[in-house]
Amino acid sequence: MTELITQLEAIVGSANVLNPEQVAQRAKHFWDPSPMVALALVRPVDTNEVSQVLKICSEHKQPVVTHGGVTGLVDGEKSNHKEIILSLERMQSIESIDPVNRTMTVQAGCVLQTVHEAATDAGLFYGLDLGARGSCTIGGNISTNAGGLSVLRYGMTREQILGLEVVLADGTILSSLNKMIKNNAGYDLKQLFIGSEGTLGVVTRAVLRLRPDTPTCNTAIVAFDNFDQVTATLDHITRTLNTNLNAFEILWNDFYHLSTNPDINGSTRAPLANDSFAYAIIEARGANEASDQQLFIQAMEAAIENALIADAVIAKSESERAEIWNIRENVDLTLRHQPLFIYDISLPINHMQTYLDEVRSTLQKDWPEVIVYAYGHLADNNLHVTIAPQPKNYINDPQQQPVKIQAFNDTQRVWYEQCNKTVFEPLAKLGGSISAEHGIGLLKKQYLKYSRTPEEIRVMQLLKKSLDPHNLLNPGKVC
Ligand SMILES: Cc1cc2nc3c(=O)[nH]c(=O)nc-3n(C[C@H](O)[C@H](O)[C@H](O)COP(=O)(O)OP(=O)(O)OC[C@H]3O[C@@H](n4cnc5c(N)ncnc54)[C@H](O)[C@@H]3O)c2cc1C
Repeated sequence: MTELITQLEAIVGSANVLNPEQVAQRAKHFWDPSPMVALALVRPVDTNEVSQVLKICSEHKQPVVTHGGVTGLVDGEKSNHKEIILSLERMQSIESIDPVNRTMTVQAGCVLQTVHEAATDAGLFYGLDLGARGSCTIGGNISTNAGGLSVLRYGMTREQILGLEVVLADGTILSSLNKMIKNNAGYDLKQLFIGSEGTLGVVTRAVLRLRPDTPTCNTAIVAFDNFDQVTATLDHITRTLNTNLNAFEILWNDFYHLSTNPDINGSTRAPLANDSFAYAIIEARGANEASDQQLFIQAMEAAIENALIADAVIAKSESERAEIWNIRENVDLTLRHQPLFIYDISLPINHMQTYLDEVRSTLQKDWPEVIVYAYGHLADNNLHVTIAPQPKNYINDPQQQPVKIQAFNDTQRVWYEQCNKTVFEPLAKLGGSISAEHGIGLLKKQYLKYSRTPEEIRVMQLLKKSLDPHNLLNPGKVC
């Protein structure tokens, strides 16, 4: 083992190989301050060093877990004391921006927010955005095929990536830094690695697709009396705002109620009364100030006239817009329940309400008081469902961290299994997915069968075996 560490130090320098005590000084996860665990943490500075590190690890049959910003939500970044963490924290360069082809080439450790800022400075725009933007990295986004707030318009991470550089488990550098939108020369290998959660290779660089800037922004929050109004409004808004529609985020009543409760979060106002069936944040972005605003207001007025929405507030300033989005981003308020079970699922929009009703009524048989928070990027089929079986156990403290699954007691573990079954089983028959955007990691591995056939899982395992025959990259994760 000391030989391996010495060889790694020779590649990256001894200051960039942290020992277990140094690793333990880091928080395990964005939401988990307990100590990180690993045999060592290695910090290469470029693709060449990553390649050399993986070659040495391969020779020693040493398992490796790759880390970006450690904000993943399915334990994909989880490591044990026998594994080495490969952190891309020193690989944060923005290498170039090409305004003609609208691309940005970055190292994979670059933080998402840094990419946004650089794109804006160049008068351009990067189409992926999510709540963890200040910490998550482009490599992590690529490896999880992250979704987020603008998928409706720009697609998931897969749609933002033109080229990729990946290092395979044996240290081979696969450089596919394509800059073009069209390139059908053989298999599109980058697609294999996007969404593979660090199990097939380590992403080291990427060519990102940039879009024209959309300087105008019109935002509203609307209230609905029933789910039929939600789907009718989505249809109306999609037709009228067309390609300008940037977000359609739904918040069912329980979530809105909590997020705007002054006793819990004094700083977030409720722009609309909190007794509606559900709410949506609707946002359009474009390039023509006068006509974009007019179109947006007309679309809202038509929705009210046609009784598609019960009430609406349109943001008149950037601070009002921020207030509206704050309601959606107050997700951490739900996390103060003890215990809490968190899901990220997708299903056809027309089945969403009956699905939620079924889940709620099944859970109420065991927990009459259960709260099922539901919110998410409805227009791209995604629902975040958070279940608090015992809402009385709410700790109203901003420092309160969600209870880790690993720390569940025996009773809570049984409840968790029960909730998993209630949430996942109906998805199989509806053609839904147990993971809309967070991936599978370790947390959902045993439930993959609800969304993938045995044949699909076998092909996944075959791919893993051919690219990583010794099972060294993120072993045991995904499939
Ligand atoms: C507040 C909050 C909001 C979030 N909102 C969303 C959301 O709206 N949509 C969404 O999709 N996700 C969301 N997430 C989840 C998370 O931010 C994403 O999964 C993100 O893409 C992870 O990036 P990361 O750099 O933190 O990766 P990490 O957490 O470090 O790693 C995630 C996985 O990718 C692998 N990995 C990381 N970097 C590389 C690399 N360079 N090469 C190969 N494998 C790698 C890891 O091994 C691990 O399996 C949210 C998380 C938080 C905490």
